[in-house]
Amino acid sequence: MTSTLLTGIGSLVTNDPAHGGPLGLIEDAALVVDGGRIAWTGPASAAPDADARQDVGGRAVVPGFVDSHAHLVFAGDRTREFNARMSGQPYKAGGIRTTVAATRAASDADLEANLVRHLAEGLRQGTTTQETKSGYGLTVDDEARALALAARHTDEVTYLGAHIVAPEYADDPAAYVALVTGPMLDACAPHARWVDVFCEKGAFDGDQARAILTAGAARGLTPRVHANQLTYGPGVQLAVELGAASADHCTHLTDEDVAALAASDTVATLLPGAEFSTRAEWPDARRLLDAGATVALSTDCNPGSSYTSSMPFCLALAVRDMGMTPDEALWSATAGGAKALRRTDVGALTAGARADLQILDAPSHVHFAYRPGVPLVEEVWRAGERVA
Ligand SMILES: [Zn+2]
Repeated sequence: MTSTLLTGIGSLVTNDPAHGGPLGLIEDAALVVDGGRIAWTGPASAAPDADARQDVGGRAVVPGFVDSHAHLVFAGDRTREFNARMSGQPYKAGGIRTTVAATRAASDADLEANLVRHLAEGLRQGTTTQETKSGYGLTVDDEARALALAARHTDEVTYLGAHIVAPEYADDPAAYVALVTGPMLDACAPHARWVDVFCEKGAFDGDQARAILTAGAARGLTPRVHANQLTYGPGVQLAVELGAASADHCTHLTDEDVAALAASDTVATLLPGAEFSTRAEWPDARRLLDAGATVALSTDCNPGSSYTSSMPFCLALAVRDMGMTPDEALWSATAGGAKALRRTDVGALTAGARADLQILDAPSHVHFAYRPGVPLVEEVWRAGERVA
């Protein structure tokens, strides 16, 4: 195993408070990668020797993005629905049924090819850790299949049998909850790390969500919750009460919801691609940050309400429309995502961390928001290997 010295780094984001500020920014920096891990970071003038050396010519280096919320196991697309929505029709949770039908009809090979295509798309845009969920099968076999496929490609797999009530159970949601907490959970738990529920009008209410998350937790899955996206509701309080790793969306929050998040270890994961793609009201990141909550940014990549795999795009939206500074947005898209996945080995460039990094065709991470829509990610490294 050879070590590599990256030098000539104009600006290095380490997310290590030891280097000052939450971003741990070092100018005129260097870092050493050894055995897939970060071995050293600091000023270039103090860099140790290594077997190989790469001068990045003043470019910025930042941690790989940690996208802690996506739905990548699906088939088909919903161009027509998006087009209709942009022509004035409101977003409703029920559009998920279109994707459920297409996903059930797809072969394993087609589903996996689509997943791999989207993972590669995210990787090219700097995402080195990608969470993904089930939720478009909604039968025992289709949910288990989705999770088994996902687990071949990522460690961060979430059981979302409770995305919506399966169409076959539309008249008997209690029976569907029994399925999700019974035979479906039995089939899915071996493939997943997390359990999630869409706690929302038109999906699952607070009592149903509690039953589903509690059942998942009893099988060793840690809760995360789709909470307070379309309306005010019990999702955030439930997430905090059950010790969920994150409450995701957080668009409609009471003062009590904000206070509960701030006083907890539950990360508020904001998904601005969803508000962009549904022309909805933005979540108020500033309010959460000022209250002391931990905020993550993620794509929510899915074919219905947020069909983007681009963390840089989400970061630009968060800065432009959600009151985040460029520094806060970058932290939330890297270290924040790692916290939302309870990972300590990714999201930062500190000694011992996995060597997941991006070399930008820019002198500073601020360019993600300053130059929106411009492909700034020049190289992506994961575990010390150049992968894009
Ligand atoms: Zn989602």
